[in-house]
Amino acid sequence: MLLFGGKTLDKQLEHRPEHVTYCTKCVVSNQRPRITFDDKGVCSACHYAHEKHNVIDWNEREKMLVDLLDRYRSKDGSYDCIVPGSGGKDSGYVAHQLKYVYGMHPLTVTWAPHIYTDIGWKNYLAFKDSGFDNVLVFPNGVLHRKLSKVAFELWGDHFKVFGLGQKALAFHMSVKFGIPLVFYGESGEIEYGGSTKNKGKPYEDVEDWSELYFAGSSLTALTEEGLRAGVFTKQEVEHEKFSFYWHPPLDQLRKIDAQMHWFSYYKKWVPQENYYYTAEHTGFQANPVRSEGTYSKYASLDDKTDGFHFYLGFVKFGIGRATSDAAHEIRDGHITREEGISLVHRYDGEFPKKYFPEFLEYLKINEEEFWEVIDLYRTMSPHLWDKSSGQWVLKHRVK
Ligand SMILES: [Zn+2]
Repeated sequence: MLLFGGKTLDKQLEHRPEHVTYCTKCVVSNQRPRITFDDKGVCSACHYAHEKHNVIDWNEREKMLVDLLDRYRSKDGSYDCIVPGSGGKDSGYVAHQLKYVYGMHPLTVTWAPHIYTDIGWKNYLAFKDSGFDNVLVFPNGVLHRKLSKVAFELWGDHFKVFGLGQKALAFHMSVKFGIPLVFYGESGEIEYGGSTKNKGKPYEDVEDWSELYFAGSSLTALTEEGLRAGVFTKQEVEHEKFSFYWHPPLDQLRKIDAQMHWFSYYKKWVPQENYYYTAEHTGFQANPVRSEGTYSKYASLDDKTDGFHFYLGFVKFGIGRATSDAAHEIRDGHITREEGISLVHRYDGEFPKKYFPEFLEYLKINEEEFWEVIDLYRTMSPHLWDKSSGQWVLKHRVK
């Protein structure tokens, strides 16, 4: 039975255009939250990719990076920047570049996945063994599960709960250790399609978080609903218990002048290149098998539950993990649009069955309850899904 009687707090659903169109250059559709299309049908991520490969002067950008780092680099070997991440190909690349190419002294910080995969854990260990200090933080296992359970139904995505902590942790560490400079890898909003508010800016203001990361729905609403439904006890929803999911108080961040910069602003961001780089320098290994729902083997490998994040994206927006992988590989010139389309047709929306029992066990729900939530979000998307034949069928596919 649905815990919240068919209610959703995912405000992104309201903004999906009724008429589904696909980018004429890549494979993404106009259903992706915050993406925009020009009058020729080209998406904002393809526009940025064109600038990235043809317009931006990367030598100039690197000079800006060196200027920035020169202002922060410590002289006694103490930490001078924070690099959050799992030790996968992207954060591994950023940390290694900062330390070995630019002479910085990064403290790397990791927000643990819901459930580590073997390959994710191996890559994490290999990363710190390649020469990095690391703080690994596991959230409270009871509360994190409960939050994920409520978010699965109310946000239609359990994984956003991980995302909040992942984003906030670096700033907690920044305040705790007095290290103002934080380096994230890429701006997903700019690289993969989303808000272009911060295009042409190396950093993002903390004030932007509520807009981009909570996507219009607050954690408080989530915990209050969870309390009403009896998932949380009153004691559990006291605000301080969830401090890792919020940024630290703004006055604390301003006191140390905390700054978050994207490495992708300063150096051309090509995920495949990050893979080759970390395979050579930080012991990163791709999975021997492709990830379910896509054809790739080297992205987002750490968490046994992340296949469900992509699957829910497919249910709510009609675009899944293969769309996301193919879109940026087309933009980076690794595959053609035709190849991308056939990969999307082949893999997009494939059900992540490998870790299904563990996912159910993690959220403490049964299979029936799982499908009720999936059906709920399909029912909320009549412009995407049709059930007149008795089976759910996606109405539109990229052509
Ligand atoms: Zn595009």
